[in-house]
Amino acid sequence: MESTNGGIFSEGTLKPYGNIDINPAASVLNYGQGLFEGMKAYRREDGGIQLFRPEENALRMQKGAERLLMAAPSVEQFVNAVKQTVLANKRWVPPCGKGSLYIRPLLFGSGAVMGINPAPESTFLIFTCPLGNFYKGGSAPMNLLIEESVPRAFPEGTGGLKNISNYSPVFSVAKEAKAKGFSDVLFLDAVDHKYVEEVSSCNIFIVKGNVISTPETLGTILPGITRKSIIEIARDLGLQAEERKVPVEDVLDADEVFCSGTAVGISPVGSVTYHDKRVEFKTGEGTVSQKLFDMLRGIQTGALEDKHGWAVRIC
Ligand code: PMP
Repeated sequence: MESTNGGIFSEGTLKPYGNIDINPAASVLNYGQGLFEGMKAYRREDGGIQLFRPEENALRMQKGAERLLMAAPSVEQFVNAVKQTVLANKRWVPPCGKGSLYIRPLLFGSGAVMGINPAPESTFLIFTCPLGNFYKGGSAPMNLLIEESVPRAFPEGTGGLKNISNYSPVFSVAKEAKAKGFSDVLFLDAVDHKYVEEVSSCNIFIVKGNVISTPETLGTILPGITRKSIIEIARDLGLQAEERKVPVEDVLDADEVFCSGTAVGISPVGSVTYHDKRVEFKTGEGTVSQKLFDMLRGIQTGALEDKHGWAVRIC
């Protein structure tokens, strides 16, 4: 879908997956004027297919587009384009519980600009890819390294948006951590270096008794759609859910820690390492994260009642 006329998107077309043409002076290539989203289509037990809160992704993209001065598709255009793309790829949606079809909407400045300016034209496209489950229930939990040298985002920056240029600056620290055997890095805030923020591609929660806490977003943390849903599910389950500043000490003192995101779902964290100190957490059967995982997965695949109306069935 292209916007060429004062921010109005023309009707898009479905094309086989392949390379796209792009002008070398496009603002996305030169100035990083681009956003992405991550979504999933889930197969139900009855063979149908459903999305999870797709309008939230559309709204998050619109918010990012406002900041990056790009035209964005309307919520209706966004959700319809996602539906059409999934329907055209429905044979790639794995069987219920065995994975999902990952959906990647992109919005980028495709117009040519030589000065440091936003492009007058933007392109919206979607591609998909089948994925297995990140956490299979019973598979190895994540082990995180608390990273002190490089923050992921700065106050008043774009950490709260799915801006394409938020990701490459932390490739190197994540690569180093993975080479040492960690699953990923848990970043600290850029000012005091003592509050946890998030992981490279997911949000973080801690559990202490019947209270779950997650860092307040405050512009430096991506407001995850999974994160927002978990807060509601936790309250439905009678837990207390808090959004607040979470100091490293509270993480080290937690009963459980877990990550949340579209790609990772709810994934338990088995250990966190800080200053060479490794602390382990409860995982598996009977944990709060397992209960939240079962509930979220049940709603996403249509196995449990969807009292909030989050699922959008497409066939
Ligand atoms: N934080 C970051 C940096 C991410 O890239 C993602 C993945 N979109 C998340 C958190 C989780 O967000 P969501 O639950 O909307 O997928």
